[in-house]
Amino acid sequence: MQNETVLVVEDEPAIREMIVTTLEMAGFDCLQAEDVSEAHNRVVDARPAIILLDWMLPGGQSGIDFCRRLKKDELLSEIPIIMLTAKGEEDNKVQGLDAGADDYITKPFSTRELVSRIKAVLRRSSALSGDKPIEAGGLSLDPMSQRVTADGNSVDIGPTEYRLLAFFMSHPERAYTRTQLLDQVWGGNVYVEDRTIDVHIRRLRKVLDPYGYAGFIQTVRGTGYRFSTQTQG
Ligand code: CA
Repeated sequence: MQNETVLVVEDEPAIREMIVTTLEMAGFDCLQAEDVSEAHNRVVDARPAIILLDWMLPGGQSGIDFCRRLKKDELLSEIPIIMLTAKGEEDNKVQGLDAGADDYITKPFSTRELVSRIKAVLRRSSALSGDKPIEAGGLSLDPMSQRVTADGNSVDIGPTEYRLLAFFMSHPERAYTRTQLLDQVWGGNVYVEDRTIDVHIRRLRKVLDPYGYAGFIQTVRGTGYRFSTQTQG
């Protein structure tokens, strides 16, 4: 099997080299970039399997800017991104995940943690990106193009709400706790407060509401949420 390629975007050479050495020992191929413009060229040229992206980068564009830009790009949005940040910037966590990052690691991290996070994100992203469109009621979700349509109308949906909906539509008629949803959609290693899921549920309902499908996202009292095309009893 061919090694998976990781793009390491980090401006501090010592950290970058430490990461690259670790990942190569773990069987990954690595590409490197010091800033956003270099990173963009690498992504377009080589389409890495995953991007490790430092938050603070030189040259006017931060990692988070780049993350947002990639997640808006139809051709590149499915490449998973793990944000790296220095200690003390943990407030940025939710902001990073909101921008579509798949996971989040605070420096300093152990090399073992880094490798296990990368593997977990790669596993999850391949599980969520099946290639067959999923239909439910009048909703359709196409994992290949990452498009959602409601009765044939294109639905404008953010990256986190897309992942949440993709999970729901591939696991219909089952109740999930907030913790389970966080694990499934963000991965168990990420520290996100339970109420964060409520925010994304609200946003998802708002996105579906104009088409009359907000009711598919149902609150299950005492448990959490469920996706169902049946009227809530
Ligand atoms: Ca940096």
